[in-house]
Amino acid sequence: MHELRVKTRSRNDLVDITAEVQKAVSDSGVDDGVCLLFVPHTTAAVTINEGADPAVRQDIEAELDKVFPWRDGYAHAEGNSAAHIKTSLVGSSETVIVGGGRLILGTWQSIYFCEFDGPRDRKVYVRVTA
Ligand code: ZN
Repeated sequence: MHELRVKTRSRNDLVDITAEVQKAVSDSGVDDGVCLLFVPHTTAAVTINEGADPAVRQDIEAELDKVFPWRDGYAHAEGNSAAHIKTSLVGSSETVIVGGGRLILGTWQSIYFCEFDGPRDRKVYVRVTA
């Protein structure tokens, strides 16, 4: 298993980790198989979406904030319930097909680490299997 480190810069921060994941795939030596990504945190997630226009990432962050405002009378005493809820909705894992040693992604797709309670030092587990 490979472990990626991600340093996030703000409370919400969608970080493009496609190049780092591709490097983990290359280092694994697996040509054809699957790449499983897992985020071992309760206030951060992983998703795949458009990487070409940074405005998409911005819109995802802004709209999630509208639906789940930081303060909204939540029961959880730690005060970061919005981040927990976003994490459950976005999800803790993604699976990408590997072919010819490359991640098989659509033309416009990038893999995003999704910080919802940053800034923090985070991890992503990467497992590539043939
Ligand atoms: Zn909490």
